[in-house]
Amino acid sequence: KPVIGVFALQGNVREHVEMLEQVGVDARPVRRPSELEQVAGLVLPGGESTTMDKLARAFELFEPLQKRIADGMPVFGTCAGMIMLADEITGGIAGQETLGGLDVTVRRNAFGRQVDSFEADLDFAALNSPYHAVFIRAPWVERVGSGVEVLSTVSSGPAAGRIVAVRHDRLLATSFHPELTGDARLHGYFADLVRGL
Ligand code: GLN
Repeated sequence: KPVIGVFALQGNVREHVEMLEQVGVDARPVRRPSELEQVAGLVLPGGESTTMDKLARAFELFEPLQKRIADGMPVFGTCAGMIMLADEITGGIAGQETLGGLDVTVRRNAFGRQVDSFEADLDFAALNSPYHAVFIRAPWVERVGSGVEVLSTVSSGPAAGRIVAVRHDRLLATSFHPELTGDARLHGYFADLVRGL
């Protein structure tokens, strides 16, 4: 069984652990560098990216995380986790930094206050059927670098065409919360990526 960690200093940790277990993975919370060393892949959950940034530094995980990402560890960033993976963000707070690794520009809180949270059915070629997605103060991707594959965009409404799921090699990121809907297909997709399938 591959061992996949869930960054556990802040955010929706338990939900991700449960979804990973559903797809046959040994899932563990990661709070310290010694725990990071033991995982083959990592989920960066949704939550609050500004707080994650600060806590990752305070717990001395920031640099070890950057190093593992640079060394090719598969990472799945969801919502705030997508922000943490982005090389560049807009709408961040002063001094906010990201781990980076994924050549995209992500806009924080992109969908606006009027639509704090919403749900939408997304077309997802990689999953070969619609995927019901929950967005909560979600970011979107405004720029993708070469080599970054767009996995899904919003299909209708005022945000139609906005990019909400991307992959570059072993880095996967979604604007929405795949851990909240009981649909484990994206966790399965990530587990296959960690298994090297
Ligand atoms: N708006 C949050 C942030 O900037 C992300 C929200 C979420 O993860 N649900 O980190």
